[in-house]
Amino acid sequence: MLLAMVQSRPEQWLQVTPQGLYCVPGGFFIDPGRPVDRAVISHGHADHARPGHGHVLATPGTLAIMRARFGDAAGTGLQALPYGEHLTLGAVELWLAPAGHVLGSAQIVLQHGGTRIVVSGDYKRRPDPTCAPFEPVPCDVFITEATFGLPVFRHPHDADEIDRLLASLSLFPERAHVVGVYALGKCQRVIALLRRAGYQAPIYLHGALATMCDLYESQGVALGDLRPATVAAKADMAGRIVLAPPSAIADRWARRLPEPLVAMASGWMRVRARARQAGAELPLVISDHADWDELNRTLADSGAAEIWVTHGREEALVHQATLDGRRARALARIGRDEEDA
Ligand SMILES: [Zn+2]
Ligand SMILES: [Zn+2]
Repeated sequence: MLLAMVQSRPEQWLQVTPQGLYCVPGGFFIDPGRPVDRAVISHGHADHARPGHGHVLATPGTLAIMRARFGDAAGTGLQALPYGEHLTLGAVELWLAPAGHVLGSAQIVLQHGGTRIVVSGDYKRRPDPTCAPFEPVPCDVFITEATFGLPVFRHPHDADEIDRLLASLSLFPERAHVVGVYALGKCQRVIALLRRAGYQAPIYLHGALATMCDLYESQGVALGDLRPATVAAKADMAGRIVLAPPSAIADRWARRLPEPLVAMASGWMRVRARARQAGAELPLVISDHADWDELNRTLADSGAAEIWVTHGREEALVHQATLDGRRARALARIGRDEEDA
C-alpha cells in the first residue's frame, strides 16, 4: 500500500532529467534539449523542438514546422497526433490540447495510475487568428511556463498596439515601418492582426520570414498580399510595413529602407530598457505568452492541487500559487528537494 502510494507520486513517473522531462511509464521525453529516441514535442519554437530525435510525436502543425525547419533531421519517424485524439504509450494515456501559443502548439496531457499531469508548454489566453485557442484541461498537476510571471506584466490589447502602428504609418507616410518579429508565430500574428484591422496593402517580408508564412498559408491561415522586401525598389518602400527578424534589424538591414522607423513586437517591449536595447522607436507590446493575470487564471482553471513552474520567473508565480492554496514548486527543483522524498 505504502509502496503503491510512493510509486504514484507524479515526480516518480514524470522526472526532470538532463535531457528534459522524462515520462517513465511511457518511455518518452517531452521537448528534450538533446537528441533522444522518443520525443513528444509541444510546439515548433527552437527551445522546444530540436532536430536529431528518433521517433517524434506532435500535432500535424508542429510536425510541418519541424519538417520545414530541419528537413530529414526532424526525426526518423514522425507521428502526427491531432488535438483531442487519445493514444496509449506504454502505461500512459496521452493526448494533445491546444495551447494558443503558435500554430500547432499543444499542451501535453498525461494520464497514469489515476493521476493526470498537463504539460502546458508555452501558452497564451488571448484570441489569436493564427492558431487554435487555449483549452483548459482539468488535472492534478499543472506544469506551467512563467515567461511573464511577474505582476508588472499585464499585456495591453493587441488590437490597440496594431492601431498604434497604423497611426504612426499615417503620421509618417514617407517612412518605411520596419517591425521586428520572430519568424514562427509573431510574424504571422502581426500580419493577421493588421488584416483584421482593415489593412489590406501589401506587407513586405525579409527573406528569413517567407518559409513560415508559406507554411501558415498552407495550413489554412490567410495572410493576404505578402511580397519580398529584398526585390522591391527603395522608393516603393516609403510608407510600407516591412517585417524582419530582430537579428536583421540589429544587423542594420533596415538601413537600406527609406527613413526606416523601427518597431518591435514582443511582450518584452513593456520593459523600457529592452525596447531601447532592441533599437525600437515604436515598441509594440504583443506577446504570445500568458501575462501575470492569465497565468494565475490558468492555474485556477486547471483545478490542479499541484503546480510545477518553469521557463522564466518561477519564484513569483510559485509564491502566488502557494498563497492561493496550491502546492507549487519550480520545475528545476522537482526530485531534488529533500522534503519531497
Ligand atoms: Zn514558444
Ligand atoms: Zn518556450
